[in-house]
Amino acid sequence: MDRALATPIAQLSRARRDHADALARKGLRTVADLLFLFPRDYEDFRDRRAIADLVADEPQTVVGEVTDVESRGTGFGKSRLGVIVEDASGALRATWFNQLFLRDKFRVGRRVQLSGKPKKKGLRWEMTHPRITWLGDDPDDDPSNEGLLPVYPLTEGVPQHAMRRLVTEAVDGYADLPDEVLAAEVRRRNALLPIADALRAIHRPADEAARDAGRRRFVFQELLTLQLALAARRRQHQFAFSAPAIEVDTRLDARIRRLLPFELTDGQRAAIEDITADLASPTPMNRLLQGDVGSGKTIVALYAMLATVACGWQAVLLAPTEVLARQHADTLSAMLRASRVRFRLLVGGMTDAEKQQVRAGLKSGDVDLAIGTHALLQEKVAFAKLGLAVVDEQHKFGVRQRAALRDGDRSPHYLVMTATPIPRTLSMTQFGDLDISSITDLPPGRQPVRTYLVERDQQSRWWDHVRRQLDEGRQAYVVAPLVDDSEAIDAASVERAFERLTHGELRGYRLGLLHGRMAPADKDAAMERFRGGATQVLVSTTVIEVGVDVPNATVMVVASPGRFGLSQLHQLRGRVGRGRHPGACALLAPAELSDAALARLQAFVATTDGFELAEIDFGLRGPGDLFGDRQSGLPPLRIADLVRDREVLAEARDAAADLFAKDPGLKSPENTLLRRQMLRRYGASLELGDVG
Ligand code: ADP
Ligand code: MG
Repeated sequence: MDRALATPIAQLSRARRDHADALARKGLRTVADLLFLFPRDYEDFRDRRAIADLVADEPQTVVGEVTDVESRGTGFGKSRLGVIVEDASGALRATWFNQLFLRDKFRVGRRVQLSGKPKKKGLRWEMTHPRITWLGDDPDDDPSNEGLLPVYPLTEGVPQHAMRRLVTEAVDGYADLPDEVLAAEVRRRNALLPIADALRAIHRPADEAARDAGRRRFVFQELLTLQLALAARRRQHQFAFSAPAIEVDTRLDARIRRLLPFELTDGQRAAIEDITADLASPTPMNRLLQGDVGSGKTIVALYAMLATVACGWQAVLLAPTEVLARQHADTLSAMLRASRVRFRLLVGGMTDAEKQQVRAGLKSGDVDLAIGTHALLQEKVAFAKLGLAVVDEQHKFGVRQRAALRDGDRSPHYLVMTATPIPRTLSMTQFGDLDISSITDLPPGRQPVRTYLVERDQQSRWWDHVRRQLDEGRQAYVVAPLVDDSEAIDAASVERAFERLTHGELRGYRLGLLHGRMAPADKDAAMERFRGGATQVLVSTTVIEVGVDVPNATVMVVASPGRFGLSQLHQLRGRVGRGRHPGACALLAPAELSDAALARLQAFVATTDGFELAEIDFGLRGPGDLFGDRQSGLPPLRIADLVRDREVLAEARDAAADLFAKDPGLKSPENTLLRRQMLRRYGASLELGDVG
């Protein structure tokens, strides 16, 4: 049986040698490879008719021979191409505007298929900009008009009709051979086609319903496999590694709370409960703490770190930038003024000797608590007894990263914090091996930041507002892209914006400049001056996007807002309105804005909910850079689309939970094939080893 699925493509009766070779270079070698090469789209030529039988204004398809081609310029680089196509019943004229490059392809005598909505002009049918399918001389090669036609990803040198022929032969002769990985029970419950039927349906659907049913089965299978792999990974973690049990009793809880500068919000309290429950168990915590900008995640992390230290273990906090690491260190030293916790900062700006000293302290156990940049992880640091690692504002949750913190079979507890909410579908896939706590409230007294899309002609009034705020003692950020973009006239570079504002709208005020290309010490100094109030306005790139906390800042101005994702804009907006004073955020509208870009920015203005914005962003742009496959370390999905297939994902997840509860090792005979597939696909990337 296996041998048959392994039949080389070259041995199919309709395979041409050169096609088989070209496909082999792309990794498509066997019949099985063809069966599982899923269409990327479908074409609909079902309504194919003789020209004499056409009706007006309905999408239809005709096949005929080119009998005449004429083209002419219509002035100012414009042109018009007219082609007459005839079949046995009559003639049709097809017209294209400004597509002269097509002219040479329409040789007289060539056979073509045209699809579009015809109109009757006088006595003759016409189609404007119909869809063209170039046909060979042999009508046997013509696409069938019996069902929806699959469109396959193409390999150079192998035309679509050849791909279709090959896959059709594979489906006709071999579709019943692949093993059924999904147990009958799973298929029945989720209304999934058996594999052979699904293969036929996805490659040769009679109609839309068949196509959708075929596709759904494979989407489900892919997502189920992923969910099982994530579940297996969690389980493996629980057995493979042990962490210190850190117990927070009421006395310790009271002691820590006395150090905190304010009453906790309900959301913070709930997150702390989740975390202390995790810490108390020797199973390493793997938790993601998400909460909108300004929801107060830092204090939750500090609570966990203090608990860890109080129980005799070490804790580290890793921040994405030196600016943030220093900010956290300041918060912590204020809290720890009266305590004996030995705490150190470890950042790139320190001398080698200083860094060496901190490292030695971590290794000997003389340092209880360290705060540093993510770089701290890059060189392997030895810890005497690391109990908890917290990673702040980390968008690269790569599964491998945690490995750097482990020591043999001992692992610290692990807490990741993000202010960019993770759309539900992603938290179920890319981050499916993390437990999640969400803070959904804000500290008391916060007022939502008012957001404006400021048109050109209102910008001077906007700057009036900025000056008034500064005069009242508040501070402001102005964010601009790092580099000039000469194509986008409106994209102001941060340096130009600084110059312009210094001599223009904000003359007489104290401005500071901050961007990623500055030396670390200069960045730090610029940030410190702003924090201390010496600088009133910080003109910056998005380096201040995450985490920065200067409660006196009340105004955020974003130049070129169209360049940023909504979640990113939300982060920027979250830099203001963090204290007693209400904040305002202005997006400076460029002179020209497409309708789509305008709609996006308007959605942003209308919504202050970061979760909602993340969902909108996700719907518009997919996982994007922030949460793409690259960051998660997982192989990309082949057929499922997390935006389009949200519902199937939820079903697959339930099915996975169910299967796993009944048969955690996937050892029962009806699950063996599924288990094998899971390991083949995810074994390496998730370091699953031999599960169970
Ligand atoms: P984020 O979740 O964005 O990291 P931070 O931890 O930086 O937020 O907190 C934002 C601001 O809110 C800080 O100035 C912090 O001191 C303040 N804050 C946090 N929790 C509370 C609280 N429970 N009551 C009052 N202020 C709080
Ligand atoms: Mg933060």
